[in-house]
Amino acid sequence: MDMYDPLTSRYTFSCPNRGEAKVPLSAFRRIEQLEGAAHPVVYRVRFACPCGEEHDGLVSHDDLDWAPLGLDGGVFLNLMTSRVEPVADELSDLAAVHIGAGEWPWSFFCYPEERPRPVFPSAFLLLAPGDGRLGLAVHCPACECTSVNLVTHEHVDVPFHNDREVGVVEHVFTGDVHATVEEFRAELWSSAFDARRLAL
Ligand SMILES: [Zn+2]
Ligand SMILES: [Zn+2]
Repeated sequence: MDMYDPLTSRYTFSCPNRGEAKVPLSAFRRIEQLEGAAHPVVYRVRFACPCGEEHDGLVSHDDLDWAPLGLDGGVFLNLMTSRVEPVADELSDLAAVHIGAGEWPWSFFCYPEERPRPVFPSAFLLLAPGDGRLGLAVHCPACECTSVNLVTHEHVDVPFHNDREVGVVEHVFTGDVHATVEEFRAELWSSAFDARRLAL
């Protein structure tokens, strides 16, 4: 059984209370790459379950970054050159058209670099809901810094839906962001957000 259902944009995890839970990416609360030289790479995900609790689940790199695009693993989307290499025969037409037009499935605004950047869900560290939107901590693949954006749920859940403008926390997060979850959550909704355009 596929873990990700592209028709509903939902991941299936096991729930100790209900047996099974289907949640969108925006229900993830933290994403952490498992230590060690595991191949394929596996991520531990904490997610907000419809049963009301938070549980941990495991997601493969392919399911996290490629399944929402209708792609299997085996293709590599080069974030620096904007090229798909090597191109898989089964590259989904929709994703190919979007990417060929210079649109990215996900993006964020890197605060230290003062510029938008394309990104994949595996670079999302923390997601914190509040006031109808989502605080999103992203590990920048280019500068290795962590930025926090304020985005819509669709920005995360729907590939190629990028908010035209996102809120940006004017703070450079350093050190182990995972170790400062509570600080992040407390600081997030008391912070001043500055709007930045996200056009790449
Ligand atoms: Zn549950
Ligand atoms: Zn950056």
